[in-house]
Amino acid sequence: MDVAVVTVGDELLSGETENTNATWLCRRLTERGTRVRRVMTVPDDEADIARVVNEFHAEYDATIVTGGLGPTHDDRTMAGVAAAFGRDLEHSQDVEDWLVEHGGYAAGDLAAGTTAVPVDARVLHNVEGVAPGAVVESTYVLPGVPGEMKAMFELVAEEFEGEQTHVETVFAAEPESALVDRFERVQAEFDVTVGSYPGDGVRIRVSATDADEVAAAAAWLRERVDGGEE
Ligand code: ATP
Ligand code: MG
Repeated sequence: MDVAVVTVGDELLSGETENTNATWLCRRLTERGTRVRRVMTVPDDEADIARVVNEFHAEYDATIVTGGLGPTHDDRTMAGVAAAFGRDLEHSQDVEDWLVEHGGYAAGDLAAGTTAVPVDARVLHNVEGVAPGAVVESTYVLPGVPGEMKAMFELVAEEFEGEQTHVETVFAAEPESALVDRFERVQAEFDVTVGSYPGDGVRIRVSATDADEVAAAAAWLRERVDGGEE
């Protein structure tokens, strides 16, 4: 299953807020065996959101959009997602009933727009906050507040699945350029993907869906690289 993640917010693009939601979602989705193919950050702009949701809907099995929910003027995400699917926003009685029952709100107390979701969306209740999420076709709309986003993702986590990827890391205390021959040989010998992450030494990331193949390739590499003092 191939998935795209869209994080919405001017404050992400200006660097005021660190995009921890993207990293968290990528990790959880990968743990579940889905492949994250895109992460895109867009401004709080309805047309920008609609354009990218429309594109990703055509390209990937599912899209997760987070941030910019709620009824304030800069929260454009529901409108953008609705526009991507040619739908209007409408009041959800289900959301209002849920907020009255679980959120301690009196009906009529909620800010205008709080209960608005795209027509025919599946509603996701916000167990940590107020703004509801929604699923439209294969696009999942989640809040931006990290605690709310995580709790809501877990409600639908089982809808994201794929073949588990196994990973082992091998450390090499050698310059990356010196390792090129062994990268080529390990990939010729084993059915694995090899990533190389230089920093203080090089972390070599060996991954595949077959755990035995990963273990064999990692062992092969450990015998042939200088592991240093680690
Ligand atoms: P609310 O319903 O409270 O308005 P929201 O779903 O509209 O929430 P935003 O208004 O986009 O979400 O963001 C709320 C807060 O969540 C931001 O101030 C920021 O601290 C945090 N936040 C939003 N997006 C991210 C992100 N991608 N990574 C980390 N934190 C984020
Ligand atoms: Mg907001």
